[in-house]
Amino acid sequence: MNRLDSQATVNRLIGRKEAYQPLSGLVVPRFAGIATFMRLPYLDPEKVAGEIDIALLGIPFDAATTNRPGTRHGPRQVREATSLMRPMNEATFVSPYQLCACADVGDVPINPIDTTETMRRIETFMSGLQRGGVVPLSVGGDHLISYPILRALGAGHPLGMIHFDAHSDTGDSYFGGSRLAHGTPFRRAIEDGVLDPHRCVQIGIRGTIYSTDEFDWARGQGIRIITAAEVYEKGIAFAIEEARRVVGNQPTYFTFDIDCLDPVYAPGTGTPEIGGFTTREALQLVRGFRHLDLIGADLVEVSPPWDHSGVTALAGAAITFEILCLLAEARVERFERTK
Ligand code: MN
Ligand code: MN
Repeated sequence: MNRLDSQATVNRLIGRKEAYQPLSGLVVPRFAGIATFMRLPYLDPEKVAGEIDIALLGIPFDAATTNRPGTRHGPRQVREATSLMRPMNEATFVSPYQLCACADVGDVPINPIDTTETMRRIETFMSGLQRGGVVPLSVGGDHLISYPILRALGAGHPLGMIHFDAHSDTGDSYFGGSRLAHGTPFRRAIEDGVLDPHRCVQIGIRGTIYSTDEFDWARGQGIRIITAAEVYEKGIAFAIEEARRVVGNQPTYFTFDIDCLDPVYAPGTGTPEIGGFTTREALQLVRGFRHLDLIGADLVEVSPPWDHSGVTALAGAAITFEILCLLAEARVERFERTK
């Protein structure tokens, strides 16, 4: 247990989390007020250390998108849609705000025309949260944002990963050698030694491909790919059990690309693929990952310009809440184990 772990937990025990409750929809209507994630208080990211346990934040970057753009607008749209979330999970009865002090710490200051510089800024921002003992839950943005997050969180101790996606995102390069794209983050993270491929599982993979190269590389590294077809063949319970077996009880990152959902449920995304999960299946799957050592998470690829009626942002908001419930339980359990 480090000092900050201890400090954050003391704050929790003395009721610090009371200062970080969402604005109640029973007092101020959920459509009113300034939009923050889950209607939580905003907290300056410089002031998180010892103050909160979990930070929700936006990463409005989409310059690494290879097809339809627009995910730079995702964080603002998902923030707005999270105003629909009530504070308790109806299936598990988990209320993350009773377990942990949570706040919206704003958006990472990205540079929309400089990908390399943005990678640096995201990594710096994440390292700051990590030094403060704070678990990050980021909303993107395209999937490349996971790469600098993993570089910060996995430095010195390679992480496992649960990865929901239609795509493996383990490509090598695009358009004649560009190695930083939203189809390459996990290849880069494995090359950098911040992800342990033997503890990585990808769920929901499908769609047409250029060749088998990407999958061959991923499987060759030891990544377990559970395709959408395999989930439908063997069932949700199998997918959960298999994924839990792969990641085990060591520190694990959780990343949810909204395009793992069928375009019927999530049309607002850059590279939609038919034959995906329903929102009901996604809820079932995500709820299967309670009581793992989850140390951070993101939800990416919501692209408002392609969204009809905000249905994709709604799915994104609801899944973000489910992930927050997982992180809050994991944060408390991690402290209980190490105290
Ligand atoms: Mn992806
Ligand atoms: Mn994808």
